[in-house]
Amino acid sequence: MIAWWGAASLAAEPPADLVLRGGALYTMDAARSWAEAVAVRDGEIVFVGRDREVEGFVGPDTKVVPLDGHMVLPAFQDAHIHPIAGGLQALACDLTGLGSAERYVEAVRDYARAHPEEPWIVGGGWSMAAFGPGALARRGLLDAVVPDRPVYLESQDGHSAWVNSRALEIAGITRDTPDPKDGRIDRDPATGDAIGSLQEGATALVYAHVPPPTAAQRLEGLRHAVKMLNGYGITAIQDAHAETADLKTYRELDGDGALSLRVVASLWWRRGRGEEQIPDLIAQRRQFSTGNVTAGTVKIMQDGVMENYTAVLLEPYLGMDTRGIPMVEPQALKGIVTKLDAEGFQVHFHAIGDGAIRHALDAIEAARARNGNLGRRHHISHLQLIDPADIPRFRPLGVIANFQPVWAFADDYITELTIPFIGEERSRWLYPIASVQRSGAMVVFGSDWSVSTANPLHEIEVAVTRMGPLGETAEPFLPGERIELPVALAAFTINAAYVNGLERQTGSIETGKLADLIVLDRNLFEIDAAEISDARVTLTLFAGAPVYGTLPSARE
Ligand SMILES: [Zn+2]
Repeated sequence: MIAWWGAASLAAEPPADLVLRGGALYTMDAARSWAEAVAVRDGEIVFVGRDREVEGFVGPDTKVVPLDGHMVLPAFQDAHIHPIAGGLQALACDLTGLGSAERYVEAVRDYARAHPEEPWIVGGGWSMAAFGPGALARRGLLDAVVPDRPVYLESQDGHSAWVNSRALEIAGITRDTPDPKDGRIDRDPATGDAIGSLQEGATALVYAHVPPPTAAQRLEGLRHAVKMLNGYGITAIQDAHAETADLKTYRELDGDGALSLRVVASLWWRRGRGEEQIPDLIAQRRQFSTGNVTAGTVKIMQDGVMENYTAVLLEPYLGMDTRGIPMVEPQALKGIVTKLDAEGFQVHFHAIGDGAIRHALDAIEAARARNGNLGRRHHISHLQLIDPADIPRFRPLGVIANFQPVWAFADDYITELTIPFIGEERSRWLYPIASVQRSGAMVVFGSDWSVSTANPLHEIEVAVTRMGPLGETAEPFLPGERIELPVALAAFTINAAYVNGLERQTGSIETGKLADLIVLDRNLFEIDAAEISDARVTLTLFAGAPVYGTLPSARE
């Protein structure tokens, strides 16, 4: 807002490059105030306020865009996503959304026919739920359509692989191959032969033989992702797993001026190594933090997923004698996090089960005790099952809760693959977003694309309704865990900007910030919550430049 005494200095302001007016701007400033108009100069917001006040910024060369009442928000930020891997998958044998084993097999057959030159058929996006409860992806289905070339298909959640016999043969996996420490080769109980599905660390036994994507393919994958994300109104992300090849890809696209995305890259913690890898991480951070990219985060996977019993639980899975597989030994984790915190890194945890979440909180607590509060903004992603005793620990430790809200409705993963294995009592605490928010902790959202859609409007709808965004369910799942729309919007804008270390430049529509803005085709506050996923982004501005949609022609 412009104070009354500011009016005189306004006249001296040089005109803006761009003025959007006549809109419903939900600014996401601290007061959650609304405005009608915004003026942009050199990519920066120079005015936010009323239509009649913006006139002072209109010069002969100013492009003036009438919004006709449309809603404007700060551009979305995704706090947990895999853009390059997702882009590569979308361009490879993509099984996303096909929904049944038969259709997967057809798609693999068609892809193999269309790409006779590819030595391996690589792809992903299949869902465990498509094989039915307890059923596993089997090699025979793939052998029937691709007998001669190896096939490697990653599951939608990235925690399992489905391979054919040729791939197992190339990897040298036989009935005598032991399970790796951090994974499982699924076997025929009668013969001990590998059946074609591999869990967690066992996927690496085959993946090690898959030819890595070329630099050109990575670049093409990233271009695909950036275009898609800009189309969903996203202009900043946290990449939840960045390898050196990914960092080079970002740098290359940014060097071409084509990275219309602010990227926080999470460097990957190699669980086979220990603290001796920290100097390498420091070197990577220094080398790759340039332009639109910063690489000051380290990602630590602390467990797997519920559906294959590798998420770490405090109490065993129902009727089993396992509590999952901790990826890093909890005591070692404390030392690692303390060192990373001292070295200036933000730690981004993957923790699904209540046991792994406790390990992460304990490690951050240990770092706090040793280093004091260094303000590193550590965060835990996924948070599928939180022990209620741990919810009040987030706020005092400054731990940010990074949920993937599109998972928080009663789909097959929840009803068939989760609740039966943890029981009703613990299931009360599945994705307890509102409970965490009410505790005073900061909540941020991410998609985990390509695990799930990267469209924030679908994710926001689920956070608000706890129902399937496309009408998949009739009843809200744990309705007490629904959150209000402003909270959900904050989790994808100003709060996500905070976890990305970008809140001074982005995340709200305020004077002095970058003009990362979106226009929507409807006002989310004026529609039924079940309609939020129907809303469309019509324009995305990245530092004032349109990167999706076009600026409507000026009124004058
Ligand atoms: Zn992820």
